Amino acid sequence: MSHNIHILQLYPNDMNIYGDWGNVLTVMRRLQWHGYNPILTEYNQGDTFPTEVDIIIGGGGQDSGQTVIQDDLLKISTHLHKLADDGTPMLIICGLYQLFGNFFKTLDGTVIKGIGLLDLETHGGNERLIGNIIIKSHEFGEIIGYENHSGQTFLGKNVVPLGLVQKGAGNNGHDATEGVRYKNIVGSYMHGSLLPKNPAIADFLIEQAVTRKYGEFVPTVIDDRFAELARDIAAKRPR
Ligand code: GLN
Repeated sequence: MSHNIHILQLYPNDMNIYGDWGNVLTVMRRLQWHGYNPILTEYNQGDTFPTEVDIIIGGGGQDSGQTVIQDDLLKISTHLHKLADDGTPMLIICGLYQLFGNFFKTLDGTVIKGIGLLDLETHGGNERLIGNIIIKSHEFGEIIGYENHSGQTFLGKNVVPLGLVQKGAGNNGHDATEGVRYKNIVGSYMHGSLLPKNPAIADFLIEQAVTRKYGEFVPTVIDDRFAELARDIAAKRPR
């Protein structure tokens, strides 16, 4: 009997743009290829927070979507902090990446409170940062994606960036950082979706989840020809 891994997708109704749902599909399919049985739970506003959670995935959204979920997100904050402290792997993109930080102050001055799990803050900027983006990271090599955000994120000293920008804007367009790493959390502005073109990150999330739950992870060698092709093509796209 294959082992179950429970994936929790946060707010698919409100926070799920530019293909972010593809991150969930990728983790589910790769889990199957590695010999595990993925079980997906979608968490939307007002739902009961599930008891079994092995991987958390959350996507981006418009400022309006972020405003809609903010109270509910604050309500489940204790669960998310506890899971993060316990080493649960999480991938959070753009809108939720911002709200896992301290706050997002939008261009019109509205402050959307975050859950303060990540030492970072975000300020709306006049210019939208849009386009294909490539970054270099220690853990995952070159990471390729697509960004579209007005928020400019600044990291505090308790977290490190996911990588350094080679092409694109990244966290804020100024300091060449992109995304965040903290415990087993990966945060990033990169849509695309991110994971189909960056399977190393998907396998990191899977490895952490499986090891935490079952003690060891024996990966299957996956034929990633199509991911490689997608990476080659995406890397040659203009900004
Ligand atoms: N609304 C946020 C911003 O514009 C997040 C955008 C997104 O998730 N792509 O910065």
